[in-house]
Amino acid sequence: MTQKYNNNFCSNCGGKLIGIDILKASNPTCDKCNFTYYEDPKVAAVIIVKKQNQILLVKRSIEPHFGKWSLLSGYVNRGENVESAAIREVKEEVDIDVSITELQGVYSGLSPVVIIVFHATQTSGILSISNEVSDFKWVKNEDIPKLPFVYDQQIIEDYLLISNRT
Ligand SMILES: [Zn+2]
Repeated sequence: MTQKYNNNFCSNCGGKLIGIDILKASNPTCDKCNFTYYEDPKVAAVIIVKKQNQILLVKRSIEPHFGKWSLLSGYVNRGENVESAAIREVKEEVDIDVSITELQGVYSGLSPVVIIVFHATQTSGILSISNEVSDFKWVKNEDIPKLPFVYDQQIIEDYLLISNRT
């Protein structure tokens, strides 16, 4: 999950923006008219789909991390309900319907993206690949591999703590 950043020029006067740093809380300023741009974080939902002591992983067929196993996730559209975005992303990626069972937590500060992690269970549908996902598999909690995104290790550690409590 990386952010596309094309905003190198001032939309006010066409001047060059300075002070751009996509990973930090930077507010680029135009070198001509001094207009300051406030860069909002992006919001993404991560969905841990659970079945007994297993979770669903998908093999990504889009960048970033093409070909790697990952949790299901996607950006929340402006104005969209976050839980609805989570459910929509699962449907788009593997064509199943899920119901959200729990909010695990919010992860932020390491990238321009604020991640909201939900647990969910499948309610209907048959797992299928899509143009975002080339494969899927259920993995046991104890067999979850190292996952590629910056918050993934913390997300999985927290998930396992919660799972072992209940
Ligand atoms: Zn300007």
